[in-house]
Amino acid sequence: RLVDDEEGGVLFFSGGFSSSSSSSGYGYASIEKQRQRLPVYKYRTAILYLVETHATTIIVGETGSGKTTQIPQFLKEAGWASGGRLIACTQPRRLAVQAVASRVAEEMGVKLGEEVGYTIRFEDVTKPDVTVLKFLTDGVLLREMMDDPLLTKYSVIMVDEAHERSISTDILLGLLKKVQKRRPELRLIISSATIEAKAMSDFFRKRKKRRELENEENGIQLEPAILSVEGRGFNVQINYVEEPVQDYVQAAVSTVLLIHEREPPGDILVFLTGQDDIDGAVQLIADEVQTSKKHSPGLVVLPLYSGLPRAEQELVFSPTPRGKRKVIISTNIAETSLTLEGIVYVVDSGFSKQKFYNPITDVENLVVAPISKASAKQRAGRAGRVRPGKCYRLYAEEYFLNHMSNEAIPEIQRSNLVSCIIHLKALGIDNILGFDWPASPSPEAMIRALEVLYSLGVLDDDAKLTSPTGFQVAEIPLDPMISKMIIASNQFGCSEEIITVAAVLSIQSIWISGRGIQKESDEAKLRFAAAEGDHVTFLNVYKGFLQSGKSSQWCHKNYVNYHAMRKVLEVREQLRRIAQRIGIVLKSCESDMQVVRKAVTAGFFANTCRLEEYSHNGMYKTIRGSQEVYIHPSSVLFRVNPKWIIYSSLVSTDRQYMRNVISIDPSWLLEAAPHFYQLQQSNPLH
Ligand code: ADP
Ligand code: MG
Repeated sequence: RLVDDEEGGVLFFSGGFSSSSSSSGYGYASIEKQRQRLPVYKYRTAILYLVETHATTIIVGETGSGKTTQIPQFLKEAGWASGGRLIACTQPRRLAVQAVASRVAEEMGVKLGEEVGYTIRFEDVTKPDVTVLKFLTDGVLLREMMDDPLLTKYSVIMVDEAHERSISTDILLGLLKKVQKRRPELRLIISSATIEAKAMSDFFRKRKKRRELENEENGIQLEPAILSVEGRGFNVQINYVEEPVQDYVQAAVSTVLLIHEREPPGDILVFLTGQDDIDGAVQLIADEVQTSKKHSPGLVVLPLYSGLPRAEQELVFSPTPRGKRKVIISTNIAETSLTLEGIVYVVDSGFSKQKFYNPITDVENLVVAPISKASAKQRAGRAGRVRPGKCYRLYAEEYFLNHMSNEAIPEIQRSNLVSCIIHLKALGIDNILGFDWPASPSPEAMIRALEVLYSLGVLDDDAKLTSPTGFQVAEIPLDPMISKMIIASNQFGCSEEIITVAAVLSIQSIWISGRGIQKESDEAKLRFAAAEGDHVTFLNVYKGFLQSGKSSQWCHKNYVNYHAMRKVLEVREQLRRIAQRIGIVLKSCESDMQVVRKAVTAGFFANTCRLEEYSHNGMYKTIRGSQEVYIHPSSVLFRVNPKWIIYSSLVSTDRQYMRNVISIDPSWLLEAAPHFYQLQQSNPLH
């Protein structure tokens, strides 16, 4: 459907997510017209010329200018996908990959998974010899390099959202620069919403002279081209709070209700940090609407985060019903990765979930942390896409001006590097310190990672991948600790159970949670709770789910998330296939949970913690860094507090909380990782 914009007749498309679900019957022509109105359309010829003549083209353009959805189509129309070649477009986020691929399939009038497809971890919606435009996460493209290091099937690779500087994007850029030396015909497009283009172009310019000369012979310029697509953003009025807010969820909810009451029509986009606070805010608004008649009609509140089931994601893109106001409460995925139409008001909490890693303590966790000025500006910009808008910042102006950092730190400088190093090693890059990084990780983090990989038995004394363990671990597309656990399960005869555990760990949560149902869901959890800990509890839930005939009613009754369980089944199937391929015998240990715990220990020994018995408040300390940590309230071992435990991840709010915890016997540690525990200065295992 085409909707007339109030501010001067700009047409914008507000069709549904997929054409089949729409009843308004818009035709191909209207989509074509919509495409032509996007800012990148004017640059079509310029972009194609630059790509033709340059090895690397950097394209900067504001969110919504059409970079992601249009440029791959331009390339295809210009013949870059002929002769069995593919065009790739990478995204840092899985949800964005799916959403963008569906949109492009719709624009091209093809079925998703045919000419236009996508691949994310554990989900491949492409067809060999048919798919020519492929959207994928940068992590998946890195994996593809393990089978095809030169990425020979691609003619053009567009590394999108480069300003995000995700860890996989950075590794990919370093590797692609190397690939270009061997494959001068490969074209790279690096696209970004902000002007970090300079840093990027410096990175691609830094080359050896000899290579430049060689390439001149090929008629392709190595000097990267930079193109800036001017947007047509409208003015956004910025409002700040006067006093710092105590509770940004509550403040966001109040602001939404105030906008709804006082401001003219237009959708609202709220930036919070993750599933917990987003679900909380959705609930609070729903409660408010129920109790006060004043707000009741007219608000359609929708969450947006990566764990969301597909059908719910699609609602976000569907047109706002007449006379209603849509409120989308999102993580920073809506900052630049996805374009939402019709947004006029933005509410910015000033926070996002960010990864932080401390190489001294070897602790990596997700922290709710202040965003950068660059992010704040992006968020505000989302309000000015269709007409002048307003942004409500839930922080003071003084804070923005004097305390917010200008740019976020690249993820590679605040991550645990274990996965990254395995990747590079598997690709035969041995000199990790000498690798050409867009931003160098710290030597401390590098050394820590090498140490962990050595103790996992993944690297040998010469820092080469061990055979078979190192190569097996590299084959499994999971955190190396999980991969090692799967490999160890082979000796313990419990691979079937451990694969289930691995599948559950790869999913956000299998429980239904939310404000108001805490008591019921805790009680339901008790039905499955195992004294050994969460991993064994997962096995009980999985068994119950199978016995129920994979029933959604069963899930509902037990406060288990049905979509999460379907996903567990899918991931499990894929992991079984991978396990068989690398020579793991699929075997169940029936009810022997000791071997399951030993296999978990074999992978996660570095996350061992001991209860501080004199603390009386359930405080643990990590064995490696003596960090204070606590069992997360969602764990079945919360308040049980066994003396020795292993966790699989940490989340940090007021304290550091361990999620997914299992009790162990410390004597297993020496078995699992003798080097690691002998390295400790004083032996903590008493
Ligand atoms: P960029 O990558 O430059 O941020 P996109 O290519 O993602 O821009 O978006 C271009 C335009 O395509 C948007 O302004 C929007 O109108 C439209 N669009 C993109 N994704 C969708 C979608 N899922 N549903 C409806 N329209 C979309
Ligand atoms: Mg984009």
